[in-house]
Parts: sequence; structure tokens; C-alpha cells
Amino acid sequence: DANNADASADPGSLRTPIVAVLGHVDHGKTSLLDKIRGSAVSEGEAGAITQHIGATAVPLDTVSSMAGELVVADDFDLPGLLFIDTPGHHSFSTLRARGGALADIAVLVVDVNDGFQPQTEEALDILQRTGTPFVVAANKIDTTPGWNPNPKAPVQETYEAQTDRARERLDENLYEIIGQLSDGGFSADLYWRVQNFQNNIGVVPVSAMTGEGIPDLLAVLMGLSQRYMKEEMEVDLAGPGKGTVLEVKDEKGFGATLDVVLYDGTVEEGDRIVVGGVEGPIVTEVRALLRPRALSEIRTEAEFERLDAVQAASGVKLAAPNLDDAMAGAPVRVVRGRPLEDVIEEVEAELSEIEVDTEDE
Ligand code: GDP
Repeated sequence: DANNADASADPGSLRTPIVAVLGHVDHGKTSLLDKIRGSAVSEGEAGAITQHIGATAVPLDTVSSMAGELVVADDFDLPGLLFIDTPGHHSFSTLRARGGALADIAVLVVDVNDGFQPQTEEALDILQRTGTPFVVAANKIDTTPGWNPNPKAPVQETYEAQTDRARERLDENLYEIIGQLSDGGFSADLYWRVQNFQNNIGVVPVSAMTGEGIPDLLAVLMGLSQRYMKEEMEVDLAGPGKGTVLEVKDEKGFGATLDVVLYDGTVEEGDRIVVGGVEGPIVTEVRALLRPRALSEIRTEAEFERLDAVQAASGVKLAAPNLDDAMAGAPVRVVRGRPLEDVIEEVEAELSEIEVDTEDE
């Protein structure tokens, strides 16, 4: 049952880090997420992957069975990774939480043949501005002339097993990307050469086509989160929910609904909530919490499943009255047990930050 899918999380324990996948159009963001979902399915872990609204939850056990020797589940106590569906760059820059970025960590996807492109630069600027830790997925390594794929092995082994000629071709492209990162002010290297991920960006050669490097990518994301983000993941999971609106959408039978990424606490059916709107905070009440019924495309119009409660980190659709003026990028707060005025003030404060930011740009 979908409620239990969130229950990796006892109240007061660690929440799932939120991962954003960014990059230039056609560099492979969608393919990479599809491959992660597909690999989990072929590992017989389909039931363990939960399709959320605008996000995919990959529990630690699934990460571990996909990443093999690279991720030993016992070494970790974070519950897994929540990949948010990549909105356009402009909306990503407005997807904030408490003044910072909504995503705790990011994957910057760069086509190895194409290198840095305008939206790569833009994404890098946003990551820099929001101080979001990230790794680079150097995608489409399978297109290297003479490449001999081996999806079963860690990508370093596969890389080293190539002919000199193929490896040199790939190196040229990889070092181009590393140079471009350096021009952007980031010291970077192939991830297996990085000792300190706090000062250096790890570059993971991957193929969303063959699946090479995806276990490595998951391992780096898991390791980075565990090592540098554990304290931020210590939230009160039973407390009043806090989230960010991804999208405002009309749904048949529900009217205007909110696709929300919940990054803190719990939201329950019947909860009074405050949502950022065009004309200021909207106070309303949750009529229904919805999630896609089964593993399917993220943005599917398929039937929803109704949940009683949802815990962070999570992607969920909220149905409630009076949401027509709600804004993408705006905060959502559950009032539960607190003075309504305080919550309205918090939402107002966050809304004014969003407005200041858009004026800056
Ligand atoms: P997005 O716009 O960043 O989401 O990019 P897509 O995932 O839609 O990929 C763009 C195109 O590149 C599609 O035709 C994919 O099939 C192709 N593609 C993505 N990843 C790879 C890869 O690793 N290898 C190869 N050969 N093609 C890829």
C-alpha cells in the first residue's frame, strides 16, 4: 500500500534527499530517469519503486540492488533517493524551499559529444547561486566510436577495458567537460579520482541507453547525501507538512489541484493548509491526497489513488477548494497545531522572496 511506501521513515528519523536532474534539451534527462526506473524493474524491484506526482522514489534497498558492490545498504541510513521530474530551467530556478533550492542535490546531464550548451550554463548558474551540491552525468558514452559496452561492470572498469583509441576519444570529450566546469569555477574530475566531493565535482561517465555508469551515479548520489546532507535530512516527519508547488493543474472531478513536492513533515486529508497565491496566501483545506495508481509515466493522466496521509520527501497531488490562484514555485504549509496567522506570515515571507528573485533576473 502506498502509505507504507513512505514508511521507511519513522517520525523523527531521516527523510529522503530530493534529487533534481538538469541539463540541456536532448542531453538525456528523460532517458536517464527512464533507465533508472527500468533498471529497478528488471532487478525485480518494481514494487519497491514508487511513482509519485512529479517524482520517483527509489528506496535504499533498490539503489543497493541496482548498484551492486557500489552501494552496501548497511553503510547507509538515509531511506533512498527521490528524483523530481525535471521542470524547465526557469521553473527550476523558482523551485525553492525556505529560500534555498528545493532539491538537496542535483545531477547535471551533459551529452559527451555536445559538451556545454546554453541550458547547461544556465543550470550551472542556478546550482552555483543556490549552493546545490551536484554531480555531472557525462551521458551517451556508448556513442564513442569503437566503444565496447559492459553494463554489468562499474564504469571505471569498462572505461579502462576499452581500446586506447576509444578511451582517448572519450577522454577528449570528458576533459572538455571538466575544462568547462573549471571555467565555471568548479574543480572537477572523473568521480573515481575525487577524494573530497565537497570541493570537487565528480564526473560520472554514463549511458542512458546501455545503463553503463548508472549504478555508479546512484552510488555517488547516495554517498554524497549520506556524507554531507545527513543533518539536513533530520526533520520532524510527523510534524506539519511543508512543500513547494511544482504545478497548478485542473483535474476532472477535482478542479484546480496542486502538484507538490513535500520536503518536511506530513500532510493529511482534512489538514488546513496555507498556499502561496497570485493575490497572497490562500487558506484552504485538503480534500484529497492523490498519487498515480501504478508505476507509469510521471505526467500520466491515469487514475489516481487516494491516500490518507503523505510523509516527506514525497511528490503528491493536493485537491482542495479555492486553488485557482495558486502559483507554481509557491510554498504550501500545513497549519496543524499552530496559530493560522503565523503560518500565513511564513508563506507571505516566502512569497516576497520569490518576487524579489524574479525581479533580480
Ligand atoms: P532530454 O531532453 O534531456 O530529456 O533528452 P532525452 O532523454 O529525450 O534524450 C534525447 C535523445 O537522446 C533521445 O533520442 C534519446 O534516445 C537519446 N539518448 C539519450 N541518452 C542516450 C544515451 O546514453 N545514448 C544514446 N546513444 N542516445 C541517448
